[in-house]
Amino acid sequence: MASEGIRRLSKEVAAALLAAADAPGRGAPHDGADWHSLEACDAIKSAFLKLPLPVASESAAALVETDLVPRAARLLQQTIDRYTAAHGSYRDRTAATVGLDHVVGFAAVLGLLLDYAACVLEAARPHTTSYDRLPTAVRRLAGQLGELPTLQALAAAVRLAADVALPAAASAEAAAAATAATVTPAGLRLRLAAAGAEVVATSWLGSTRYMPGAHLVRCATMCLLNVLMVDTFSSTGGKEVRQRLADLRTSRLLGALCAAVLVPPPVPGPPVADEYAYEEGSKAMLEGLRQLYSVLFLVVSNGREFVRVRAVAVELVSAPEVARLRWEGLEQLAALGPGGVEDGEEEVAPGGAARPRRPCWPLLRCSSVEQNGRMARPDIMRDIVYAGVAPVVWDPAFGPAPPSAAAAAAAAGGRLPALAAPAARVLFAEAEALASASADPRAPPDPSLFNGLKVLAASLFMVVRDAPEAEKRAALPEVVEAFGWVLRAMAAPWGCADGAPEAVTRLSVLFKATQRACARRLAPTGLLRTLDVLLRRELAGDANGALEGHVATACTFLIGMLVPAIDARLEGYRAGAPLRLRHNARSCDAGAGAAPPAGRCGAGDGGPLWHPQDELGLVLTWAKLARREGAAAAARLPMGPAAAAPLGIQRLAVMGTLGANMGRVVHDWLGRGLGAVASDLQPRPPPGAAAAPAAGAQQQPPCPEAAQPAERVRVALLEAASLYNRSALQLLPAFCDGVAAFVASPSFSPARRTPAATDELAVVLKQVRGLLMPTIQFASAEELLAADPPRALAALGRMCTAVTAAMLPPQPPRRDRGAGAAAARSASAAVAESMRGTACEVSFALALMAADEQLVAAVVGWLSGGCTELDAAALVAAVGAWDREAAQSIDALCDAAAAADPARLLAEGRRVVRRPQGWWPGDAPEWGPGSAVRAERAVGVAAGRGLGGAPLWPPRVLRLCGNTGCCNLGGGGTEADLRLQQCSGCRVLRYCCAQCQREHWRQGHREECAAVAAVAAAGGC
Ligand SMILES: [Zn+2]
Ligand SMILES: [Zn+2]
Repeated sequence: MASEGIRRLSKEVAAALLAAADAPGRGAPHDGADWHSLEACDAIKSAFLKLPLPVASESAAALVETDLVPRAARLLQQTIDRYTAAHGSYRDRTAATVGLDHVVGFAAVLGLLLDYAACVLEAARPHTTSYDRLPTAVRRLAGQLGELPTLQALAAAVRLAADVALPAAASAEAAAAATAATVTPAGLRLRLAAAGAEVVATSWLGSTRYMPGAHLVRCATMCLLNVLMVDTFSSTGGKEVRQRLADLRTSRLLGALCAAVLVPPPVPGPPVADEYAYEEGSKAMLEGLRQLYSVLFLVVSNGREFVRVRAVAVELVSAPEVARLRWEGLEQLAALGPGGVEDGEEEVAPGGAARPRRPCWPLLRCSSVEQNGRMARPDIMRDIVYAGVAPVVWDPAFGPAPPSAAAAAAAAGGRLPALAAPAARVLFAEAEALASASADPRAPPDPSLFNGLKVLAASLFMVVRDAPEAEKRAALPEVVEAFGWVLRAMAAPWGCADGAPEAVTRLSVLFKATQRACARRLAPTGLLRTLDVLLRRELAGDANGALEGHVATACTFLIGMLVPAIDARLEGYRAGAPLRLRHNARSCDAGAGAAPPAGRCGAGDGGPLWHPQDELGLVLTWAKLARREGAAAAARLPMGPAAAAPLGIQRLAVMGTLGANMGRVVHDWLGRGLGAVASDLQPRPPPGAAAAPAAGAQQQPPCPEAAQPAERVRVALLEAASLYNRSALQLLPAFCDGVAAFVASPSFSPARRTPAATDELAVVLKQVRGLLMPTIQFASAEELLAADPPRALAALGRMCTAVTAAMLPPQPPRRDRGAGAAAARSASAAVAESMRGTACEVSFALALMAADEQLVAAVVGWLSGGCTELDAAALVAAVGAWDREAAQSIDALCDAAAAADPARLLAEGRRVVRRPQGWWPGDAPEWGPGSAVRAERAVGVAAGRGLGGAPLWPPRVLRLCGNTGCCNLGGGGTEADLRLQQCSGCRVLRYCCAQCQREHWRQGHREECAAVAAVAAAGGC
């Protein structure tokens, strides 16, 4: 019954419209007729959306039978043509005052008719799983809607609205002059009701031009959106999409729509004659804008899906008017941020001049915009990002970028980075808010936001990667900040880490140019902590400790931002502001599932409060990683000649990379940078201390919690460096023994080894070499002794011997000397070069320790046979095979030690480290003799440089497992998130697990527990 009624009515409406169109000489129908029709269409549409598929199908059939869509489109075009002919160009405002309302109103009626047809598609859609199963009539209707003449007619109508009607409505004068004429077509509504359809009362007829114009925009976007959906999601899509996008380009409908939605709405209030009409109109415009973004999203994703339409898609979204909307969307998104200016305020330009703020889109302000029952704002944000950056993300795999894409990318280079950082922050904040509002705060909130973030990161990367160097440098701080937010969202407990490794890798590719300039941007995003969380999550997921994977690799680059980041944190302090630290080490977002309190959570920014451990976390994780890797390798090493397969070269390469990177961290960042930062943090009287009597007369060492913030930061830095130094040297023995076993294994026998394998070995040897010297140079005497250097030296000696045995015996003469043999020779030369470097480093490291007053006594013991592991004579022999001078140095040190006279050894050590430059092999690393800090300190050049300092274990400020050998990386989160339990004896040390406690107890806590307890009781800590 209902369907019949609807069908009859729709035919009736159609007939009325067509009759109006066919009446010759009529520029526009009279008021009554078109308003009636307008409301009828809308009412039918409302009823329609509630009807099941068969009805939609029938109605589609009715529409197709009567050819209503093409005829309506023709009629629309004719009307506008007639109007334009009568008034000259409709752009000529003075001439276009008469009849404009009618034309726009009529256009809106016909727009509604098309919209009504589009609704038939929409009504049909939910009832089928596939667009291919849409009833034939519905598909034909979609085809009619998407025909070029239809698109062109819509474009003409929207253009009329955008150029004349909407701007006129926006002026208060025009709005005030408009007259109210509300018609209530009661008869129609009654008949609809009789037909059994529920009719939503829509007495929205108003008087201003804005409303019909806005409805026209809404109808046109709706129509376009549905046509594109049917094209896109049908399995035969590719070809149809190509034709459709080409027609869309010809019709220039997109540009007209973009121009229309950007026309400012009329000012509500007294000047507007009919506020209700304005309200309805602006709602329609809102819907139009939302749908338009969906259209752009479809165009863009079609460009991704169907390679052959990509150029057209890029061209469409690069057209000037579309580009204006795309940029406006990004601006709007960026302005929405927590750092954005509130509505009504004025932006103050750097020069001090205030400029009026752009009006904010209600679309983004309102979090309750819904579509199909779900929150639409995340989708809108994603669409804005997708459309905004669309032409930028041109993958070279698609072939050369069309000129429009190149131009768009060039334009983006200047604008995108500045907008991307705040936009990424907004997306992050939205995801965070959704997570805290949801029942399960750990459930990923919305894929749309993550997709938006991923696309944003990808496009930023492309823009910056290809930019000229100067531009790149200028943009990098913004880019780093944007990446910081992107990654933070992905590392959050509710995050979706899918895509994070890619983003991290991209960030690390950009790293070379990122430095100090980026540090200030880095702090609020908590990027270092984010990377720490991602790294630990990756590592915890792999019991073998495999370091492969983007995150680990990228972290080794990005840890270079550590010192600048901490430096930036302290900038205010140096300028006189107090340091405000968070006392509670527990980070709030990794607790037992509780949602972080909004705006307060640490996660690296901590609001005004800073927790230094957040930034040092990456260092702590690296330290643990080295220990874990060393322990895992040691556990797998062959115990004798008959042992199982040794570590492969790949595994050794991973350890080599880890070792080399740790060496770099020690040298560049912990040794030099952090040392400088820490020495800057000399305690100073707290503000107001002058009033307190006897500020300097402290009775007892202060409890760390109560210590001055600057002192706490300094101690935290030293503790992190100490843990790191202790761990770095521990990797070396396992690595050296791994190499020794590898070169002795059958797979590296002269008969089976390839030149490539020899090359690889040379690289691996060179890599881990970088670990020894920095640690020896920068670690304090106490840390060095804790790391057991003779064990490392002995392992280095064993490695030298094994490599000698494998590489140095004279090769049997070969007759078939060709290219392969030559390559083998040069590969061997590379190994020899690496080994010579190793020999020099071993001798120099030993001399450095001998030259240190705090260490010389221990070195005497090691070299004079007091250390069972280190055989000095064997070491001399092993090193001598590769560098004679290095062997002589060690020999001389051994002679001095044999006299059991530390003073003599000290003098000998200093003689060696003072040796003029030039004996260090070829590519002298920066930690060669010339730059050795321990050497400089020994000879009095640089007293106090490096970290050095008092014993720092157990940690007093950092929240760490008390077992220095702890390898527990937890299941994500950070070090500070590990649940620790106190030692019941001293109540000072804390452990992550019973096993760690047992290990540490055996390692010596047994002896010190009582003493630690006594100190704690006395100090009151
Ligand atoms: Zn532990
Ligand atoms: Zn204890």
